[in-house]
Amino acid sequence: MQKQSTKPSNSNCDEKDHGVQFKFEYKYCPMCATEMEWRHVFGARRQQCPNCGWVHFRNLKVGAGVLAERDGKVVLARRGINPGKDKWCFPSGFVEYNESPETGAVREFKEETGLDVEITGLLDVVYYSADFRGAGIMVLYGGKVVGGTPMPMDDVVEVGFFSRNEIPAGDEIAFESNRIALEKWRNGGK
Ligand SMILES: [Zn+2]
Repeated sequence: MQKQSTKPSNSNCDEKDHGVQFKFEYKYCPMCATEMEWRHVFGARRQQCPNCGWVHFRNLKVGAGVLAERDGKVVLARRGINPGKDKWCFPSGFVEYNESPETGAVREFKEETGLDVEITGLLDVVYYSADFRGAGIMVLYGGKVVGGTPMPMDDVVEVGFFSRNEIPAGDEIAFESNRIALEKWRNGGK
């Protein structure tokens, strides 16, 4: 069993897997406050508490967003914070523990743009790792605006409506998953 001293949670960990740099380790067990150890448990190297046995499973974060149309134009939000500050993306956010991805996507859309959106289908599920907040998956839905008044709120500074000819250039789009989905939409898909 390999053992390694724990490091502060914000240090650059030397453990890498598939190019993903893992962060957010626990120095102490969040259940009983014993110092955590590195062990090989459940088929991988993980942190486990030597006192109560609690295992730190590093789950993916789950985000959800909607590629929504209004009058043939796609709704994009310009971000006021990093990652992707000043760039455009689909209104989206992290799914809360007590809601479904669909519910989270609709809620985030309303919170960021003031618009009510109705989901019409699933577009894509994308894995990402280049995010300082941790690796995750983005669940991207297609949808349409059904009400509300556009107004940038929360971490969004501008709400924009873009026709297929008007969508921002690739380097003005915040996330790779968004760039790919927008390109498909531009070419007539959804
Ligand atoms: Zn413990």
